[in-house]
Amino acid sequence: MNCTSHDLQNLWSRYHSIMLTAHVSPDGDAIGSLLALYHWLKEQGKQVVMVVDDDIDDKFKFLDGAEAIQKPNAVHTDGQWLYVVLDATSADRCGKAADLIQGKVLNIDHHISNEHFADWEFVRPDVAATGEALTALFLEWGVGMTAAMAQALYMAIATDCGFFKFSNTTGHTLRMAANLVDAGAAPNTISEHLEAQSLIKLRALSEVLKHIELFAGNTVAGISFTPEVLKHTGEHTGGYIDYARNVKGVDVAFTVKYISDNETRVSLRSKTVDVNAIAAVFGGGGHVRAAGCTIAEPLSKAKKMLVKEIIRNK
Ligand code: 5GP
Ligand code: MN
Repeated sequence: MNCTSHDLQNLWSRYHSIMLTAHVSPDGDAIGSLLALYHWLKEQGKQVVMVVDDDIDDKFKFLDGAEAIQKPNAVHTDGQWLYVVLDATSADRCGKAADLIQGKVLNIDHHISNEHFADWEFVRPDVAATGEALTALFLEWGVGMTAAMAQALYMAIATDCGFFKFSNTTGHTLRMAANLVDAGAAPNTISEHLEAQSLIKLRALSEVLKHIELFAGNTVAGISFTPEVLKHTGEHTGGYIDYARNVKGVDVAFTVKYISDNETRVSLRSKTVDVNAIAAVFGGGGHVRAAGCTIAEPLSKAKKMLVKEIIRNK
């Protein structure tokens, strides 16, 4: 059922125990949304657990509460709990955290490819981030926003709109961010933490840059994270796609990452092409300008299939 802001406001009072989860490979929006809702619900006297079926990138650990995010096998819940799925199009996108769900599910999300799976949903494809939707809700409800909530929500919004540079940045996005700065978010601290690179990471970047390949008359750029390249970067390869996206003349950027001999993880970004439609061909989704999918093929074959599909959609 589609919820209004008012329905949602009433929903919390029906539950004492609430599990919050978000998608695997959690990005800034997933983590920021999780933490902001966690802080607020704790202040309401609720029992709250945050569960993510993945390691949390170290760069997010400066945020208050990040240390309380747990892995699914450490958590016990029951049918009386409310299960909140944040920034994810389906429960499956939460990996093993989805196996903990035994009761009613609320989904707060902003993906165009949302699968409308929950008992209650608040899905806003018109906003740049789940954190932007949450900020608007908190403002509408007149919630006293703590600095920790504001900091988490600002990080959520900023990371999903490329620090207010991508085409999903609207006046509303900026107004929500301005409200968060007034409530104690510190844009400089957030940027410093997210942009700080160890020398090892910087050296890994130089290795990754060597592997940018161009296709389709230099309008498509891709990076392959083979096991060899992953030795340099480690598992968190999230930010590298922007370097491919920023190559002059490139419209579509992609990364293909080795998961196993028969599984390849794909990320897509674009300036004009609908990459959600391309990801959907392989069973994935996301947004028009940023999407992802997993292809059950070896990396080199998956890359060929992907490039073919990108060219078909251009
Ligand atoms: P990323 O490339 O950063 O992993 O993902 C880009 C966007 O697409 C994010 O909003 C992410 O949630 C979404 N996305 C990535 N992979 C998938 C997928 O396999 N399925 C769906 N439905 N969405 C995805
Ligand atoms: Mn998001």
